[in-house]
Amino acid sequence: MFRKLIYRLYENYRNPSLKADFHFLIESDRWSLPQLQNYQISACRELLFFAAAYSPYYKQQFQKSGFSPETFHSLEDLKKLPITDKKTLTEHNKQLQAVYPFKKTIYSKTSGSTGEILSFYRDEAWESFHLASIFRGLSWYGISRWDKSAVLSGSDPGQKTQLKIQILDFIRNQFRLSSYNKRTTDKFIGHLNKAVSIQGYSSMIYELACMCNRKNNSSFPKLKLVKGTSDMIFDSYREEIKKAFGKPIISEYGAAETGIIAFECPEGNMHINMEGVIIEESDGEIIVTNLHSRSFPIIRYRLGDYIRLAPEGYKCPCGRQHPVLLELQGRVGGVICGKTNRFPSVILNFAFKEIMSKYNRIFSYQGIQKEKSRLTIRIAEAENPGDREIIKRVFEHYLKDDVILEILFSQDLRPTQGKRNYFISEI
Ligand SMILES: [Zn+2]
Repeated sequence: MFRKLIYRLYENYRNPSLKADFHFLIESDRWSLPQLQNYQISACRELLFFAAAYSPYYKQQFQKSGFSPETFHSLEDLKKLPITDKKTLTEHNKQLQAVYPFKKTIYSKTSGSTGEILSFYRDEAWESFHLASIFRGLSWYGISRWDKSAVLSGSDPGQKTQLKIQILDFIRNQFRLSSYNKRTTDKFIGHLNKAVSIQGYSSMIYELACMCNRKNNSSFPKLKLVKGTSDMIFDSYREEIKKAFGKPIISEYGAAETGIIAFECPEGNMHINMEGVIIEESDGEIIVTNLHSRSFPIIRYRLGDYIRLAPEGYKCPCGRQHPVLLELQGRVGGVICGKTNRFPSVILNFAFKEIMSKYNRIFSYQGIQKEKSRLTIRIAEAENPGDREIIKRVFEHYLKDDVILEILFSQDLRPTQGKRNYFISEI
């Protein structure tokens, strides 16, 4: 009760729109698909009008291409606008930011796996809707936003000082692991019996699960949910995490600039957060429009992930009409250089998926390329008879004889911080 009160007071001060957003999302959770689509059209129209009026960059872009928000009546009309990417957002950063007297804006910074940093200001309504989307997802598992959560975060505290983080964690009723040594990790595991949820980078949750499994004496009576954010959840993680915590790891997909894109329901399907984003697919890549990004409009943004959507008309047993994202297939961008051809690095994920489905073997892996036409595949598991041949055979199908493979088993793949990259090129 006391924790709820503290949390509520803070929420009223920091995110005054959050409560109403959350109630709206709980209601729209049961909307029909046409209802959701109508909402998207009107929210997108408002965003376009706002961008045309207050974002100098979009004002100019719309004029240049002869586009008027007046002519926007269906989601198809969105295709008249150009696709943007992180480069555009960084290069035109200042002109993109809306010149409008928002009551409150919050500084936000994201760094992609390729290292570029994007910074911008989110207005209060934007941030609140983003948080409300996460809280709706948590509510599917019977979790309230003030319930105790265990957070695994990267070691970079960014703008905030250690003290500020501690105070915020207290208010939000969460405790955190951010430096990964034996003492801090043991202490964190000791507190986990109080946690209702565990949230963080999936690679870190996996490491934590391995440690708990080695200890073999931990119990988590209150735990309702384990949630992986930001990075891909490798198949090899799932078993270990389920074994450690007695719950499967579920996936939340999003980014600071796009907001929450999808959240996994208890039936195991990732539902698109239609009230927050419009999703398009172009050559397998996700294109996102963030419907609440007024202070820094994110319109038709190429986030840089390969995705696979469920076929139209697919119905999830949970009853939600929000379309389903079948699979997050990996980051776009990495290239494996062969003797004569170039291959997208995402084929590493395809190949290991095939190995799992055809041969029932699950590996934790990472590809490293140090020179052209050679690829080192590092595997965390110890070698079993036949493994090497299976991997070679499947990769041959994808890479032909253009790339010479070197396969190493029993490798330490733990990331030094944050996400684990499935492919690193040093060429
Ligand atoms: Zn569902």
